[in-house]
Amino acid sequence: MNTAPAFYPIGTPGTPWGDVERAEWLSRQSRQRSYESEVLSVIERLRPRFDVGQYGHLDYGTESYPLMAIRSRDWRDDLPVMLITGGVHGYETSGVHGALQFVDQRAEDYAGRVNLLVAPCVSPWAYERIHRWNPNAVDPNRSFRHDSAAEESAALMQLVAPVLDRALMHMDLHETTDTDESEFRPALAARDGKPFEPCEIPDGFYLVDDSENPHSEFQLAVIEAVEKVTHIAPADENGEILGSPMAARGVIQYPLKQLGLCASVTSAPYKTTTEVYPDSPRATPE
Ligand SMILES: [Zn+2]
Repeated sequence: MNTAPAFYPIGTPGTPWGDVERAEWLSRQSRQRSYESEVLSVIERLRPRFDVGQYGHLDYGTESYPLMAIRSRDWRDDLPVMLITGGVHGYETSGVHGALQFVDQRAEDYAGRVNLLVAPCVSPWAYERIHRWNPNAVDPNRSFRHDSAAEESAALMQLVAPVLDRALMHMDLHETTDTDESEFRPALAARDGKPFEPCEIPDGFYLVDDSENPHSEFQLAVIEAVEKVTHIAPADENGEILGSPMAARGVIQYPLKQLGLCASVTSAPYKTTTEVYPDSPRATPE
C-alpha cells in the first residue's frame, strides 16, 4: 500500500489551480516512453490485414501525435459495430496493448459477423508521460461531452459519430493502479482545491456498467469470461469498490453520460469499462 502525501506539492490546499499551477505541473512531466516505437509501429504491422487510418492529430508544443483507428477489412454497413477503446488514460498500458493484441490475434474471428472499430491509444501524449491527464491537466475520461475540453475526447467523438446508432457493443479498457492513490487522486484533489480522501485500491478485475441503462447479464458474462484468466476484485469491508456499491460480483455502476466517460460515447446497448489491477502480486503484464 502506498502512503499518499499530506499535500500535493503544487498549489495551495483549498484553492483550485490556475494557469501558474497547471504550468508548474506540466513542467514536471517528462517523456518516458515512445508512442511511435511502442504503438504506431505495432499498428503499422496490422495494415496488411486491417484498414488502418488516422482520425485526428494532437499538436502539443513542438510535438505532434497522429490518432489512429483500426477497422475490419470488408466493412459492411448491414453489420453491427463493435468499438474497442484503449489508452483513454495514457498510463493504463494494458488497455493499449490489449486492444492491439486483440486485433492481431482475435479480430479476424469476427469477420462477416460484426464491424470492428478499434482506437487503441486515445491519449498518446499521456501514454508517453505515463499520466492520466493531457498537457492541460484535463482528464480525457471526464470530457466526452459536447464542446469537450479535451481534444483527445473530441477527436474520438468525431470518429464514432457516423456509427453512433449502429454500435452494438463498446469495451473501454482501463486500469486501476497504485499510482491512482499515490499520485493521480491527490493531484486531482489539489487541482480542484478539494480535500484528498484516501481510498482502497481494489485487487482484481472489475467492470463499470451504466447506472442509467444497466445491462447486468452482459457485465456478468464478461466477468465469467475474464475470471478464467485473472482474479475478480472483491468488495471492500463496506461491500463497495472505490466507494460504489457492488451491483453484482465485480460490477459497479456510474452514470456514464453525466460523468463524461468514454463508455458513453456511443448509444451501444452493451457497453462496459474494464478495470484491471496491474500492481497485484497475482497479475502479470500479459
Ligand atoms: Zn482509466
